[in-house]
Amino acid sequence: MRKLLLLLVAAIIGFAPEVLAQKKVAETRSMYNTVYRRTEIILPQVKGMNCYKADFHTHTIYSDGGLTPRQRVREAWYDGMDVLAITDHLEGNSFAKTMLRILAPYNKDGKPSEWSNAKKSGRVITDHNAVFDEAAEEAQNYPLTLVKGTEIGLEPEKGHFNALFIKDVNAIYDTDEIKRFENAHKQGGIVIHNHPTYRRKTSDKNEWQEKVYKDGHIDGVEVANAFTFYPRMVRRCVEEKLVMVGGTDSHGVTDIYYSGTPFRTHTIIFAKDRSEKSLKKAMLKRQTLVYCGGHIIGSEYWLKEFFNASIECKVVHTNEKKGTRTFQLTNHTSIPYTLRRGKGTYTLNPFESITIGFGKNKEGYYTQPKLRVANMWGMDNKNLVVNIEIDK
Ligand SMILES: [Zn+2]
Ligand SMILES: [Zn+2]
Repeated sequence: MRKLLLLLVAAIIGFAPEVLAQKKVAETRSMYNTVYRRTEIILPQVKGMNCYKADFHTHTIYSDGGLTPRQRVREAWYDGMDVLAITDHLEGNSFAKTMLRILAPYNKDGKPSEWSNAKKSGRVITDHNAVFDEAAEEAQNYPLTLVKGTEIGLEPEKGHFNALFIKDVNAIYDTDEIKRFENAHKQGGIVIHNHPTYRRKTSDKNEWQEKVYKDGHIDGVEVANAFTFYPRMVRRCVEEKLVMVGGTDSHGVTDIYYSGTPFRTHTIIFAKDRSEKSLKKAMLKRQTLVYCGGHIIGSEYWLKEFFNASIECKVVHTNEKKGTRTFQLTNHTSIPYTLRRGKGTYTLNPFESITIGFGKNKEGYYTQPKLRVANMWGMDNKNLVVNIEIDK
């Protein structure tokens, strides 16, 4: 009887028109098409090689950064990077200290576990490889090459150094500082001198650094770190055959820090493919440029090759009467170029063309257009001056 009554009530409610209408209304409705978009940085093929965009300097919550390794991976991919290294500090993990305090109630004595600050304890007890493993799991979802690394942080007068392309971060630390570099090289890694003026008045090498460089412990230098460019480091890299690197040294969110500029600071590597082997080989051959705040930094050779590969130049018209020739310059890359001739400035935006007229030279011939690229920087704080290749 009770069952029958319930059925009757259900039937009445069920057939009520307003209830029927209500039932047809969806529980949830998406108010925005959440498709995540990657920023594509379009760069040219240079001498038959691809340009790979790499950030070799980032931090996570496992040292003193604010993001997890997984977030760093996703962030790099959506920022347009092809290569990422997470370089958490080897010797000191300030955020880990906070984590251990939060987890203290899980310990039997209720006290925080030992903090692996090598400066105090003389050893490192953190499993640094776990950071890479977590990032690697996430990196599988993207065509992104994850490079294993760590930042060796010595006292200010000695400096900070990134060990990249290493295999076991835990085996890098040694109480002897020089052995940390040796351990990195033993693993097939390369060592980059980071932000050379950090907590120092000059980037000039002191006695200790002079010896470290001379003994072959250093393979490259950060010519740019975040938005800071170190103009004197370009000459050092060219003269001492060191690779030029640029990185964000991101501790926070790049989306905020680089919101006013199109792209985050990165190293452009000219390589065959984005395998670790090819990237490392290209770096040891110093086939890099550095992007920083809309500027490109590097050796004159690679700046020229990169610029001429970026720009298509055609003759539009020759006015024999006036003795002038008009050229069309087309920018096939995402990099805006600022070109100067005398007092004239020409902005050549990404995927746009401009025309410029040139007269004959002193000998009475039409020549290649010669321009100064005001956002390309070679040795000694000087802009690249380039003869633009025609009809290549
Ligand atoms: Zn540092
Ligand atoms: Zn750093």
